[in-house]
Amino acid sequence: MRILKLHCDYIYYKPKKLAVKQGADEVTKEDLEGKKVEEVLVVFTAVENGDSQKEVSEAVVEIKKMFETVKAQNVVIYPYAHLSSNLASLKDAPTILARLYEETKKSVTPNTFKSQFGWYKEFELKCKGHPLSELSKTIGESKGETTRKPKAGTAHTIHEVIYSVMLEEPQNRGFAKDKNAYRLTTALSIAALLKQKDKNVGLGLMQLNENGFYVDIDLHRSLSPKELPELQKELENFISTSHPITQKLVSKEQAEKIFAEQKEPYLLELAQKLPEHAFLNLYCMDEVSVPSLVPLLDNANELRAIHLAGVGGAYWLNDSSKPQLQRIAGFSFPTKEALTNFLELQEKAKDRDHRKLGLQLDLFSVHDVAPGMAFFHPKGMIIRNELEKYWRELNHKYGHVEIRTPILMDAEVWKNSGHWDHYKENMYFTQIDGKLNGVKPMNCPGAIIIFKNTRRSYRELPLRLAELGLVHRHEFSGVLSGLFRVRAFTQDDSHVFCAQEDIESEVEARLRYLDEFYHTFGFEYTLELSTRPPKRLGTDEQWDIAENALKKALDKLGKKYKINEGDGAFYGPKIDFHIKDSLGRTWQCATEQLDFQMPLRFDVTFVDKDGKEANPAMLHSVAHGSVERFYAILVEHFEGKFPTWLAPIQVAVITVSDDQKEYAKQVYDQLRANGIRVELEDKTGTVGAKIRNWQQQKVPYMVIIGEQEVGSNTISIRDRKGSETHNANLSEFVKTIHLEIEKRK
Ligand code: ZN
Repeated sequence: MRILKLHCDYIYYKPKKLAVKQGADEVTKEDLEGKKVEEVLVVFTAVENGDSQKEVSEAVVEIKKMFETVKAQNVVIYPYAHLSSNLASLKDAPTILARLYEETKKSVTPNTFKSQFGWYKEFELKCKGHPLSELSKTIGESKGETTRKPKAGTAHTIHEVIYSVMLEEPQNRGFAKDKNAYRLTTALSIAALLKQKDKNVGLGLMQLNENGFYVDIDLHRSLSPKELPELQKELENFISTSHPITQKLVSKEQAEKIFAEQKEPYLLELAQKLPEHAFLNLYCMDEVSVPSLVPLLDNANELRAIHLAGVGGAYWLNDSSKPQLQRIAGFSFPTKEALTNFLELQEKAKDRDHRKLGLQLDLFSVHDVAPGMAFFHPKGMIIRNELEKYWRELNHKYGHVEIRTPILMDAEVWKNSGHWDHYKENMYFTQIDGKLNGVKPMNCPGAIIIFKNTRRSYRELPLRLAELGLVHRHEFSGVLSGLFRVRAFTQDDSHVFCAQEDIESEVEARLRYLDEFYHTFGFEYTLELSTRPPKRLGTDEQWDIAENALKKALDKLGKKYKINEGDGAFYGPKIDFHIKDSLGRTWQCATEQLDFQMPLRFDVTFVDKDGKEANPAMLHSVAHGSVERFYAILVEHFEGKFPTWLAPIQVAVITVSDDQKEYAKQVYDQLRANGIRVELEDKTGTVGAKIRNWQQQKVPYMVIIGEQEVGSNTISIRDRKGSETHNANLSEFVKTIHLEIEKRK
């Protein structure tokens, strides 16, 4: 059972439309007018599979405790299916809810009400602003499933896979003509083509990935990459004729019927796993139907430019105990030109793949003994340390102070933060002195503990606590990729605690910080503001203040930004930075996330100007995001040709022949004494080979010492682009380099 208790000034609710076919409560005329209950503890409740009297009794204890603590006068038991994905059947849920209602009435308060089960309802409520106004709890055995809804391509568990295609409310997704429509229409066409060739193939799901799509199909044999060109030809032929696509919204039962008729064992299994009230949005072509939440084109003959990119095995529903299907991946674009451009970009990107360059430049490595956790080598550490140094300089300039918090904390911390309920499967735990501890998946609670260490006054705010915190998140081994998808990474978190009236100026300061930060690396960026989602915590007034503050800060700096209505987190609005690298690819990096929720959960307060306790606003901000991911982006952005301030080796001193060894050593010593990262290449060998070697190492400068340089007491300089300066003066060169480093050019 899952319950969410809200202490409210009032709740108003009324049934709108029947949501289930059986087991719904009867509704009277009076019900249809709606009911308002004031000074109320609202208990949103989802009855889960296997719940019994035990869970009911425990829930009543919870309700009673909260009812007495907040001194509410009424209770409303409010059936709310969205709290769980493991709902009890329509046969069992009403009985359990009725018991919960009766027992609450008996042992908590006679003023207990129950809202209608099995109806779509409209409700409005006003939450009390104190810290106890919201607490959610899982009662009974933890069912161990998250309610997190993954974005395209990030579904890991069976549950996440199912949630990536199901609908909780009936909603026709219709058709579209955007890039995703092209991608998934291609995936559906592959399914239809293969089914046409062989009635016995079993379809899995089709999904979007970073740049394209994939579709999983059981071909009862493995498909070799060598077969792809032939399949691509057949597919091109297939889409040259009309294959209309229809879209239909179906209930769980309808979906089961369709998949049984179409002899699709995998999709039938998926339909059977759906919660009772769920819907699927199906796209149908020829003899096949596949669910998708993302709209498709209305005919396969609108496809213009397709490219099958790869094939591999993938367990059905990401479950290794289930059969392995063939995963066919590819790209699809509205024009041939767009596809060609994309493939060219892919080719270029391959050369600058950070995994390849990481190896070539000896920066880092990844090993089977610690999947998803990188080993940084000496040269790689130089870059990391320079990035950290720069981060500290900016923090100093913008008034952030640095903290460090433990990576292991009592599991209670993670229960309080909500991670236990929603993120447990992705966390690592260990027992210490008989107590369960969790390895931190995020840094926020640590900053809060430091904030709460003393009683804070408004005079101390804004308090900006910055941490380079090592976090661990368990990702499936199959999705790990270089430094982009890892299990251990450092997040450069800044937590800004401020009074509500300072949100705007704090956000503005952060925008300036980030502008300076990205500018240094030569990134352009675009901004997106995400506003209040339909399901959210906090009052409308709080959301107004927060959204306005973010908008005003953006406007004040004259920034253009896109608004994503309803895309904010349930705990606050946010600003996202999308940076554009030297290949024109975009990456989401920094976010500025306002949070009303966590200060309440952790009871974070300060004494305001009037001597009253108030909750500060909390701003979670990052610049790098994941330092490892940002590092990888930088490697690819610069193609390994790091600017001098970041380059692991800044200068290589090269001798033409053994005769210049002594002079070259003097030059080397002098550069080194001036704090420059320099290496001496005075081994026997041709100067051409030496230059090639250092070119491969992408060192910014080579200093070449020959007979002439020794004779005239000068140096020859060769930069990375190959342009040379002869008869140069060593101390002038040192000055140039120092200036470059200082300016981070
Ligand atoms: Zn945070």
